[in-house]
Amino acid sequence: MSDVSLINRLARPELLTMTPYQSARRIGGSGDIWLNANESPFANSAVAYNRYPEFQPTQLIENYARYSKLDDSQILASRGADEAIELLIRTFCVPGKDSITICTPTYGMYAISAATCNVAVNEVPLTPNWQLDSNLTAKLKDSSLLFICNPNNPTGSTMTPEDIEQIIEATSEQCVVVVDEAYIEFSAQLSCASLINQYNNVVVLRTLSKAFGLAGLRCGFMLANQHIINLAKKVIAPYPISAPVGDIAAQALTVDGVAQMRQQVSELNQLAQQFASDITPLQGIEEVYHSGGNFVLVRFNNDHWFKELGRAGIVVRNQSQVPTLERCLRFSIGSHDEMKKLTATLISIAKQTAA
Ligand SMILES: *Cc1c(COP(=O)(O)O)cnc(C)c1O
Repeated sequence: MSDVSLINRLARPELLTMTPYQSARRIGGSGDIWLNANESPFANSAVAYNRYPEFQPTQLIENYARYSKLDDSQILASRGADEAIELLIRTFCVPGKDSITICTPTYGMYAISAATCNVAVNEVPLTPNWQLDSNLTAKLKDSSLLFICNPNNPTGSTMTPEDIEQIIEATSEQCVVVVDEAYIEFSAQLSCASLINQYNNVVVLRTLSKAFGLAGLRCGFMLANQHIINLAKKVIAPYPISAPVGDIAAQALTVDGVAQMRQQVSELNQLAQQFASDITPLQGIEEVYHSGGNFVLVRFNNDHWFKELGRAGIVVRNQSQVPTLERCLRFSIGSHDEMKKLTATLISIAKQTAA
């Protein structure tokens, strides 16, 4: 576990010897008069924001460490999980030379982030029931990063931590496996976070945007061994978490905040199950895919359902342009009332279609 040779080999070589920007807050100091950061002495808001925030807010990191059962040194807070995806690409991929591997269909930002960094994308399709290709480790084409989204967006499909562990083990001399757990709270038993203590080559991504209900806040986390975290700290902005974000996020991760999140997750999981069983028998619905997240993917018999839903004022995510997701729509799980209206609308579209 303490062997860092794989990580040193995979990281962009210039990062290994680079000293990160020494911001005033990182250098720190002790005293009563702070004149080291060109800040204003005037606090022009009810809560004072004239000082730069902590590089990684202590309370936030401590609370996430307690929630994730990891050490403070294994956590990096970022501007959403999206920023963490980009940081990993910038840490491990030399532009124009290295590649990432993604298992499609999956979350779109891996490929977009890679493209903005001039990093190639190697696509290995999921199997027809959306599991990892059984020959995946032979198809990595020297990628430095392998992204596995679990539960997977937009299919909702899940993989067991045992299956993912096999991939991590098989690639332990080859690449870093990034397990995107944006939806893990909805299937908490599937988390790979504890594998960080057993393997050098695993990173887990998390967010407050989904189960914690804080998408507008922009706060996510990279969980990894200290060596990877320290490399990512060289690439991240000097003050990535603004003070109000750090405070609100830390509050959401108190014992009470986590209890409230779990209550809401159990309600949403129940609504998802109800929704799936209500619509499965409808004429024109070909398949309702089982989901481990707060959304359900549905395949219809034709493409007009999206337009009909739109006419009823219901906005859902059209996936039909995505290879293998023809005629599929993705429904986020909303409130009890919203799901009631959605179900009623689908029932009435099904009746029109049948008539
Ligand atoms: C929503 C989502 C993210 C992005 O999360 P943010 O923290 O809001 O940036 C990352 N990965 C997956 C799979 C997602 O669905």
